[in-house]
Amino acid sequence: MKSSVQDRNLVIDLMGKNMNYEIVQSLAKSCGGAFFLLDLDQLENNYHKINQAFKKQYNNFIIAYSYKTNYLPALCKKLISLGAYSEVVSRLEYDLALRLGENGKHIIFNGPIKSKEDIYFALQQESIINLDSFYEIDYVKQYASENPSRSISLGVRVNFALMEDGESILQDGYDVSRFGFSVENGDLERAIYELKKIAQVKIIGLHGHFSTRTRSLAFFRHKTERLCQLAKKYINETLQFIDIGGGIYGELPKSFNRTVPSFDDYAAAIGSVMRNEFAGASNKPKLILEPGVSMVANTMSFACQVMEHKRVQGTSFILVDGSAYNIKPTMHKSNLPFKIVAKNHNSKLEHLFHIVGYTCMERDYLAHNVHGTLPQQGDYLIFEQVGAYTLVLNPLFIKERPAVVAREKGQAFLIRKKETLADAFNENIYRF
Ligand SMILES: *Cc1c(COP(=O)(O)O)cnc(C)c1O
Repeated sequence: MKSSVQDRNLVIDLMGKNMNYEIVQSLAKSCGGAFFLLDLDQLENNYHKINQAFKKQYNNFIIAYSYKTNYLPALCKKLISLGAYSEVVSRLEYDLALRLGENGKHIIFNGPIKSKEDIYFALQQESIINLDSFYEIDYVKQYASENPSRSISLGVRVNFALMEDGESILQDGYDVSRFGFSVENGDLERAIYELKKIAQVKIIGLHGHFSTRTRSLAFFRHKTERLCQLAKKYINETLQFIDIGGGIYGELPKSFNRTVPSFDDYAAAIGSVMRNEFAGASNKPKLILEPGVSMVANTMSFACQVMEHKRVQGTSFILVDGSAYNIKPTMHKSNLPFKIVAKNHNSKLEHLFHIVGYTCMERDYLAHNVHGTLPQQGDYLIFEQVGAYTLVLNPLFIKERPAVVAREKGQAFLIRKKETLADAFNENIYRF
């Protein structure tokens, strides 16, 4: 069996079985308590669904996975093995991609801060760099003058106003995005002019990523159109890619009770713009999508054990050996879906309760005001949808970070051990 996870430590052969009590208990035992579970089959499924949906609409299509969403090595490596490019926004992520065996030409280097050394290194590797600010153009100029025989290909990140009905659609209520070169104030035109003055430089693509509240089809249609039209206006002769960033919805669990666009819906909306804009063009650019949440949110869950049911002034607290910092480090107030893996099946008591964690913070609620079957001492709770922006934001707060088990084709492997004192306080970096 070809596998993406090297040096695998087989924890248990699940032999296709569901996660029953004995299995969860034995995994928790090998992990030293609460643990994350990564479903590599689900990840593969997501990759193929997104890829097929878009390829059907526009064949020259590439997925570049957004590392910051979840850069668990085994997860990124699996995506590389499926053919995904790596989208990175720091040198740390860049070096991780190389360490995982990614081809330097398949790394897309975004983000607002890139040092001179980073830019030199990425140009040497012939990665796709999307420039974000003018200071980076200075580094490119220096590189070009020091390496006069090298040709240099670059992308440029574009910033334009996003309004719907007179209101900005950016996330968290921001009016203006701070990333990329503004079209409205002439910065984009100036940046392109500056770059074109360097004889060795070819601007091969435009990039547009915005975090929006709506993630709507109308927004993606509009964004793709803008990028295509700007590309045709400024870089038609050298154009090789249109990179529309990330921000699409993934498949939501039924319990969310929400209808959102499917991968097919996004692909149809974006693909039809690409086909129209480049109808009759001899050289059709690549379409690049940088999915984060939509690729990984539903690939991970978190298992923790009920230590006690505590009653205080009529309020029920279910105390577990995990924390809100494990499953929603941004401390948002919505409850994630969870399952009870019960020790005994005889209790079906309906009750109102909160699920609270191991830290000594009052606000450590894994779930608020749950009305449902009351978990019992010894039961395991499995929180779902914890694949995106959880592991990467999980702080070293009060306790070590938990182990991660990967499940693939009926087997379970340890892909990250629980941290130890020596990992948490690495003596190479700390003075004692
Ligand atoms: C965060 C980010 C993504 C991924 O966004 P999602 O909303 O998780 O899909 C893609 N591209 C860039 C440049 C990003 O910063």
